[in-house]
Amino acid sequence: MKMGRRAAELPSIEISIRVARFRLGEEVHPDLKNVIELQQADLKVAELTKQIESLPAQIQSLQSRLDEFIHAQAERKKRLAANQHERKELDGEIKVIQEKIARHKDQLYQVKTNEQFRAMTKEIEGEEAKVRAIEDEILEKMLEAEEIQQHIQEATTRLQGEEARVAAEIARLETERKADDDERVRLQALRNQIQDALSESTRNLYQRIRQARRGLAVAEVRGGLCMACNVLLRPQVYNDVRTNEVLLTCENCGRIIHYVEPAPAQTGEANGQGAEATA
Ligand SMILES: [Zn+2]
Repeated sequence: MKMGRRAAELPSIEISIRVARFRLGEEVHPDLKNVIELQQADLKVAELTKQIESLPAQIQSLQSRLDEFIHAQAERKKRLAANQHERKELDGEIKVIQEKIARHKDQLYQVKTNEQFRAMTKEIEGEEAKVRAIEDEILEKMLEAEEIQQHIQEATTRLQGEEARVAAEIARLETERKADDDERVRLQALRNQIQDALSESTRNLYQRIRQARRGLAVAEVRGGLCMACNVLLRPQVYNDVRTNEVLLTCENCGRIIHYVEPAPAQTGEANGQGAEATA
């Protein structure tokens, strides 16, 4: 039962077919109708392919933004560790100097002359000044550590948000890619089916123009102009193309052309809906 349904659904075409405004009661050349549908399918496949192929770069750019965050955070942590190390060293230096001071203070009792006493006192004062300078340095480092720690905390929150955002965005892109993949497979099967229905000469013609014209083998004619190359058709060609009963190519760009009736609301003038590509 399922098989039957699927088989029945396969030929249905969801792509918008611009041939819809063919004049009523006229026989559209079967190859022309198919070639237009084939072009629509191929353009859509090309668009999907472009989208699918852009995905790795999109993910890469998201990932590298996140990497920058992570790297900056690692740098902050390194700076904090270095700061702690430096403070420990300074503490050690103070300890050494204080031991020296204590020794010198003991020696003060043993000096014999006033001169020696003054020299020793001066030395102790010098060492005490050194301790104060180092203590100032330690205080500065403590303030710096506090600041770094605060930055780390803020960045941790930001990073968590960023990681969640990037993960969600990548998941969304992957889902989109999956849908694009499925749609491409479906359209490729469809375009092959349409291609098989073409006469051999039209099939070859389509392939040839498509390759030469970067994917766009079929052009609309509006208001006497080939919409792909914007060149006015000769009156005879224009008359023939208006019937849509024959398979014609533009004498300028070589594309297969088909006539599109102006929308009823407009006064016969082409509405300037732009060419999709230039020759
Ligand atoms: Zn043309």
